[in-house]
Amino acid sequence: MTLKELLSLHPNPFDKEQTMRITKAFAFAQEAHKGQLRKSGEPYFVHPVETAAILSRMGMGSITITAALLHDVYEDTEVTLDEIRKEFGKEVAFIVEGVTKLGKVQLKGSDEEYYLENLRKMFLAMAQDIRVVLIRLADRLHNMRTLQFHPPEKQQRIAKETMEIYVPIANRFGIGELRGELEDLCFKYLDPKNYQLVEKLEEDLYREREQYVNLAIIELKKELKKKRVPVVDIHGRAKRYYSLFLKLKAHEMRIEDIYDLVAIRIIVPSISSCYEALGIVHQKYRPMIGRIKDYISLPKPNGYRSIHTTVFGPKGKIMEVQIRSERMHNEAEYGIAAHWIYAYRKENKSWLPDWRQALFGRDHSHKVPEDELTWVRQLKDWNEETQKAPDEFWQSLRIDFFKNHIFAFTPQGDVIELPEGGTPIDFAYAIHSEVGDQAQGALINRKMSALDTPIHNGDLVEIILTKDKKLPSRDWLEFVKTANARSRIKASLRKGGVELI
Ligand code: MN
Repeated sequence: MTLKELLSLHPNPFDKEQTMRITKAFAFAQEAHKGQLRKSGEPYFVHPVETAAILSRMGMGSITITAALLHDVYEDTEVTLDEIRKEFGKEVAFIVEGVTKLGKVQLKGSDEEYYLENLRKMFLAMAQDIRVVLIRLADRLHNMRTLQFHPPEKQQRIAKETMEIYVPIANRFGIGELRGELEDLCFKYLDPKNYQLVEKLEEDLYREREQYVNLAIIELKKELKKKRVPVVDIHGRAKRYYSLFLKLKAHEMRIEDIYDLVAIRIIVPSISSCYEALGIVHQKYRPMIGRIKDYISLPKPNGYRSIHTTVFGPKGKIMEVQIRSERMHNEAEYGIAAHWIYAYRKENKSWLPDWRQALFGRDHSHKVPEDELTWVRQLKDWNEETQKAPDEFWQSLRIDFFKNHIFAFTPQGDVIELPEGGTPIDFAYAIHSEVGDQAQGALINRKMSALDTPIHNGDLVEIILTKDKKLPSRDWLEFVKTANARSRIKASLRKGGVELI
């Protein structure tokens, strides 16, 4: 891929400064990786360019694309971080460093430990800069696309890791396009037999249906034009292999029960035109009862919005029609930030706990109070500017939104959220009041630590319990930081007959 191609993939044109930055990084990385080859025999430089291309297509800013071009330079070549900082600035160097650190996952212990370690690193990296995680996702996608050049055991390990760690994160970020491709690539390596089965099935069916899908597109275009509903695009869409496989499994492999094998997607300019278009589709083709899903009024938990309806299309054949605005389409395919802000505004509540829940798979009771999310409010006003100034936008996302919050881990990998300066006692009471009452010592990152030691972001904290102690220590009230710990200590002391002034 040439530099020109890379630049042209972006949905919006870059200005002069941005173009120069990317151009410089392109040449710099090409020089740095000179002579290095990939397993495929191609020059190594192909990999950072393809990684950057994935992000360019997603509409990421020039800083992100620059850092993506340089993402393996620090790790795999002679180039130092100082050089990157000097040539490309602090921000790019910071992201490259983050990506490198995130990639240095130590393989140790059981599979589960490895998994949690990854998740932890992802999480902490994200706390510092979401762009680091996006580059890692794009990097992984390109590596998955070229996995055939690796030995089978490595293919299995990487595909499994991708399915368990990268896919859920991509899903959570609402990057449907990237998630779908990652899933299909994993599916191919992890379950080749079923992959081939679905591949064959879809090919045959697609060929059979292509003709009437084209017919439906022509009919709908005509109808929408007649009723003056503006249309941005109408296209047919084949279902992703993995999601089709899951659906087939749920329907005991009966392909005739799957109605969205080939769907038509109508993209219109606004929300109101979505509903207008829906009316026209239903006038033209009889809808199937109980198959209208309005994810615009009720978005999916990851923010996905669209209207889906199943109709009896041309020749009475069943087909699915998806209707969405251009903005929704971009969000569903690529947009992470836009989607987050939208979800926040739409639900009019904090998305942060929900997001964390999805990432860690369980509910966390310590929700961030809404008034602490003012930066999110500021961000939503940026919304319209996002398209114009992606770099600034991403920079603002870097605002350390965990500044006043610390996330520490239990040995089981549970996340405990604490205020700044939180101690092992706050941590213990956050787990359970009994754990607090019986706390005798603490291991922070496997090192014995005093109970009033401030915990830091990412610390692994283990509370050592004693069986014989029934009451908490009164001294703890001097240093605990959470209201929860304070009130529980007092309650336990009172219950134990200790008088409190
Ligand atoms: Mn890489």
